[in-house]
Amino acid sequence: MDDVDGFTRRLAETSARARTQGVDAVLVTPGPDLRYLIGYDAVPLERLTCLVVPAEGSPTLVVPALERAAAIESGAGRLDLSIESWMETDDAYARVAATLPGARRVAVDDHMAALQVLRLRDAMPTVHQELATPVLGSLRMIKSPAEIAALSAAGAAIDRVHSQVPDLLRAGRTEREVGRDIAELIIAEGHTRVDFVIVASGPNAASPHHEVSDRVLREGDSIVVDIGGTMPDGYCSDETRTYALGDPGAEFLANYDVLQSAQAAATAAVRPGISCEAVDAVARDILAEAGLGDLFIHRLGHGIGLDTHEEPYLVQGNARPLQLGMAFSIEPGFYAEGRFGARIEDIVVCGDEGAVVLNNRPRELVVVS
Ligand code: ZN
Ligand code: ZN
Ligand code: ZN
Repeated sequence: MDDVDGFTRRLAETSARARTQGVDAVLVTPGPDLRYLIGYDAVPLERLTCLVVPAEGSPTLVVPALERAAAIESGAGRLDLSIESWMETDDAYARVAATLPGARRVAVDDHMAALQVLRLRDAMPTVHQELATPVLGSLRMIKSPAEIAALSAAGAAIDRVHSQVPDLLRAGRTEREVGRDIAELIIAEGHTRVDFVIVASGPNAASPHHEVSDRVLREGDSIVVDIGGTMPDGYCSDETRTYALGDPGAEFLANYDVLQSAQAAATAAVRPGISCEAVDAVARDILAEAGLGDLFIHRLGHGIGLDTHEEPYLVQGNARPLQLGMAFSIEPGFYAEGRFGARIEDIVVCGDEGAVVLNNRPRELVVVS
């Protein structure tokens, strides 16, 4: 999505951070990190494709000969990097090692397959391997204006899906049937991939990552619908709303009110400089005061970009201060085993005047009658 200048800047920034971390190179195989750095959306295969970003000097992309054309076409051909292809009988790992004479420490991207990490270790037995998260995670965490535009387009697309969800919820349908319809809508509204569809009704909603089941929706159910997909440019959506078929009962409604104020208060607390854990605590304290603290069993949120879950994580123990341009979810919930559950989730960006909210469906309980 970004221009040549953008990728060039990201590569230069990766080298600079590698120098700061004291690593000699960052090694990146197909996945979101590769797409972020050079725009190449390569399919992860057992054959090695590996971008070597050295602390000093220009990067090299090692690709199987049969992928060379695709790599060049992706735009990587326009960047200042050498593309080295290997034939089926070559040792691709030795090719990577040859680009790094004298290296002592390398950082590998955290999506790299164990198959490749271990073969790289064999090819460079004296080189210490570590995760590239401190280098790449901290870089990807701060979104450029173009990335924020991409995330808001993703947010608008998933909003359009949620706006159609009430029409799909009827007593007598199964979660699976509803989920199938939602998956179609996720594509119809502009995503190229469905990443997840959670339709958690009645007691199933007490499991935050329940997907779908053959449970039949009934009058009085509350239903957590948490859905997301990937847009053509690679950026992800993720939004949760809670619905009810008719009257879900006084206790649920009272809890839901508390949840909604916790979500609103946490969103209002977002500003540069506040720590990730402090934002988590804002929501957690409100739920705890209402006696729902034990029912909020996960962190408040996660970063989002080319991955649905990435840094920063809004979790107790993470003292990292929010910075301008960070994008993340605010998604408190309550989960009462065997009974019900609810969650409200928006993606927000940290702006200088607080949170810029990228999901804009109403946050009140949506009662379908
Ligand atoms: Zn989740
Ligand atoms: Zn979600
Ligand atoms: Zn989420």
